Amino acid sequence: MDPTAPTTPSSAYRVPKYNYADQFPDLDTVTLPALRRILLSGAYVLGPEVERFERAFSDYLDVGHTVGVNSGTDALVLALDALGIGPGDEVVTVANSFHATVQAIVRLGATPVLVDCGERDFLIDLDQVAAAMTARTKAVVVVHLFGRSVDVPAVAELCRGAGAVLIEDCAQAAGARFAGVRIGTTSAAGCWSFAPAKNLAAAGDGGAVTTADTDTAARLRLLRHFGQSRQNHHELLGYNSRLDALHAFLLTEKLTRLDRWNEARVAVAAAYRERLAGLPVSFQEPGAPGEHVYHLFQLLTESQRVRDGLVDHLQSRGVDAVVRYPVPLHLQPAFASLGLRAGAFPVAEALAVRNLCLPIRPDLGADDIDFVCESVAAYFAGDRSASGAGKE
Ligand SMILES: *Cc1c(COP(=O)(O)O)cnc(C)c1O
Repeated sequence: MDPTAPTTPSSAYRVPKYNYADQFPDLDTVTLPALRRILLSGAYVLGPEVERFERAFSDYLDVGHTVGVNSGTDALVLALDALGIGPGDEVVTVANSFHATVQAIVRLGATPVLVDCGERDFLIDLDQVAAAMTARTKAVVVVHLFGRSVDVPAVAELCRGAGAVLIEDCAQAAGARFAGVRIGTTSAAGCWSFAPAKNLAAAGDGGAVTTADTDTAARLRLLRHFGQSRQNHHELLGYNSRLDALHAFLLTEKLTRLDRWNEARVAVAAAYRERLAGLPVSFQEPGAPGEHVYHLFQLLTESQRVRDGLVDHLQSRGVDAVVRYPVPLHLQPAFASLGLRAGAFPVAEALAVRNLCLPIRPDLGADDIDFVCESVAAYFAGDRSASGAGKE
């Protein structure tokens, strides 16, 4: 096999959900020579490439500090730790998210207090956040889910009133704004994932915490590096969670394209909304311009039977439609100790069984969008044939 031949693992699909080749327009001229230089330099962990990315990301967001870490998960864990959250503390967050959000809270020994999400925006319900706050509430973690921003000023005000810190899980929403302000810039900590599927992706695991607070940033820098302030001097109990130079280089390069990519995602979403209107499906409310960067495009069906049938139908036609989070967090065995049962969060539970994701990426072409929309329409027209190029 020719080791330089391009390979796209998802090419078995007519409409795959990822296309990494599109993310490297200058692969041979810029990217590979730079990676070669870094490989030969031996400066693999933190170092100048990571500092360069941290500055670039801070400038892009307009925030004081970016601290590169190992993953989005670690961004959450280190942020909670840096802000002093631990056993006995309650942390309010949402039942409708990826596992890592609640995993981080439990890892720190704190108690997650889950609330439901809204029926139209699919985001944490702020009335329920207010109702869930107690004297033990130390933090609120909001999730900008699927790429749509939460009303950060409103939840910040709730936090101020209750003496709690606000942490944002920005993993799915790199580049999104709320009311014109970038997310992850005004709270105690914005937590970012650069995992391969995310809008801004490393070539493996990577993450960052952003903060305006210099002390929090300094603490995060200690925590990620064995709690070490200088060689062999460990100030506090830390972690080994550092961003690598190869990833940082790729992230700095891709960051220059992120806004353009997000605009392209928004255009794909607008086309889906327009083309699928009239079918028995609905969508996550888009919010004002700039508030949704469409990490995922969710299509809400009327029942689990329709959802499952439509996913199978799309897969059989070579459209890589998938279900994200079919079991909400409170019903996962890992969080059984929270003692929450089916029925606790009806909206999150309904979304889990009725939502599916259509492929969305910046380079999705008009032909692809046509094919996806025709395939969805065919399902509702009763044409369940696997016509078109199916999955191999
Ligand atoms: C991806 C993701 C994370 C975790 O990020 P990793 O880099 O995969 O550890 C956390 N929260 C949400 C909402 C995510 O989508």
